[in-house]
Amino acid sequence: MNFQLPIPILGFAAYSGTGKTTLLEVLLPKLTEAGLRIGMLKHAHHNFDVDKEGKDSYRLRKAGASQMLISSRNRFALMTETPEAESEFEYLLTRFDTDKLDVILVEGCKNIAFPKIELHREVVGKPWLYPSDDNIIAIAADTEVTDSELPQMNINDLDAISAFVVDYVNRQANPVVTKSEGACCDTLSPAFLSVTQGQEKILSMVNRVEGTEACAMFDASGRVLSDDVISPVNVPQYTNSAMDGYAIRGEDIGLAEYQVVGEVMAGYAHNAPLLAGQAVKIMTGAPTPVGVDTVIMREQSSQQGDIVTFNAEIKVGQNVRQAGEDLAIGAAVFSQGQRLASPEMGMLASLGFGECTVFRKLKVAVFSTGDEVQAPGTEQKENSIYDSNRFTIMGMLQALGCEILDYGIIEDNEDLMIQALEEASQNADVVMTSGGVSVGDADYIKLALDKLGQIDFWRINMRPGRPLAFGQINNKPFFGLPGNPVAVMVSFINFVEPALRKMQGEVDWQPLKVNAVATENLRSRQGRTEFSRGVYELDSRGQLTVRTTGKQGSGILRSMSEANCLIEISPSVDTVKVGESVTIIPLQGRI
Ligand code: AMP
Ligand code: MG
Repeated sequence: MNFQLPIPILGFAAYSGTGKTTLLEVLLPKLTEAGLRIGMLKHAHHNFDVDKEGKDSYRLRKAGASQMLISSRNRFALMTETPEAESEFEYLLTRFDTDKLDVILVEGCKNIAFPKIELHREVVGKPWLYPSDDNIIAIAADTEVTDSELPQMNINDLDAISAFVVDYVNRQANPVVTKSEGACCDTLSPAFLSVTQGQEKILSMVNRVEGTEACAMFDASGRVLSDDVISPVNVPQYTNSAMDGYAIRGEDIGLAEYQVVGEVMAGYAHNAPLLAGQAVKIMTGAPTPVGVDTVIMREQSSQQGDIVTFNAEIKVGQNVRQAGEDLAIGAAVFSQGQRLASPEMGMLASLGFGECTVFRKLKVAVFSTGDEVQAPGTEQKENSIYDSNRFTIMGMLQALGCEILDYGIIEDNEDLMIQALEEASQNADVVMTSGGVSVGDADYIKLALDKLGQIDFWRINMRPGRPLAFGQINNKPFFGLPGNPVAVMVSFINFVEPALRKMQGEVDWQPLKVNAVATENLRSRQGRTEFSRGVYELDSRGQLTVRTTGKQGSGILRSMSEANCLIEISPSVDTVKVGESVTIIPLQGRI
């Protein structure tokens, strides 16, 4: 689980028909007798209701109370309507008053990752959970299993189950620190971090670049504005026709016919004011003559000689765009930190800007490491692999509009590494390498980084991409990405891109995340975030669905090429079943 619950939690996992509730009903008295104060969380599949029709609380809920707290001498109940979706497991746990409890027992929630006792009865005829579920910590069954080291109890031996639960609660509440755990102050021991913790740490340690420059509009795509933009003009500049047709004065509406006294094309004007009963033929975008406020489209008009008649109802002001209607002089257009894409380019141009002021480009130094890594474009040597990481990294840097300093592949030699890292940190705003940062690796890059200091070697609870080095070299942020090609990209997407965007001056950037329905079972593991490569699409019913690209090895770069999203399975979930909703991160424009 992602958060720290102050008291132990223990689940009872079983297929329906095993008799979970019946067992708990006789187990709870034994546990309370042993002194445990118990909170229960039970998942109900159906549309349950604790309230009774006609009761005051029921009537008030139906009348619109989305939360209803009812209290009496003996108990209170808070009923919360969740019409959108069932609440998250972790959120539900926070509803308990843990000061008044010793343990939370959970019935159901088989697919959510937290410690559980598996209940099993042969007659139910269902498969075992423990072989594929790391969360099972003990088995209570009516038969013995021989292929597991887990503690086993007879499902009918309530005293044994009760003793197990009491012991579990005591152990969780008073953990015994073993010697090896106690000796954790070794400075080299890598920190374990969640994805969010890693992201937050990195973001808190990088700052926006100093320095701005003027940029011609035709070069501005992808750049980040360093100033707010105020409109210097009215858009549109003058009141004009939104249609090809005839322009008349609003007060003349209702006449049988009008005299056409002229024609205005876009870019020209009809300078004489119109008189009563007159019309001008007008083209889309042409300025309306003085006194004219209404345009009738050509399709609703018929002109004979210089007389025009209209065959539709006419409203004052129709088909006319007012000066300043889209944007008035002095109105705020964009704020500092806005990244410019085509709509922003077009808008700035429409306001007459030939250039804009942007933050200077971010310079990023990149190199690869590893004796086995060989540059592409040369004949393949024995025992070597071509360097792909530098190219995926450079591609992603280009998409972000960075200036790239390519240092190639640095030979495995500590002095050369230190020299390269030093030089890169002098010339660039950010330094990035791939490979050689996993725990236990004896790569030279690690030795070099250790000497340069201020680098932390993290283990992120994610897959792929567990190892990550991050720190500063000469006050410049340094990213030591993992070596595996998919891990490199997934780490870049999660940790590097948000940091670079902040350094580029972009404000409040958030990656797009949406939910899609899984069309295949997805497995993960408790406590870590799983990023599978996915393909999302709309199915024939218009529902967003997602499947994986197949094999998910962290070296299979093709999976990134086939994917259009990452599927993000959070640490608290260990299985997503077909038909369940899962978070996806679309990748268009990012890789
Ligand atoms: P490492 O973290 O250095 O043990 O690398 C993990 C895996 O990634 C190894 O199989 C390396 O050969 C591979 N790898 C490291 N650097 C690169 C690179 N630049 N391009 C492609 N694969 C690499
Ligand atoms: Mg290596």
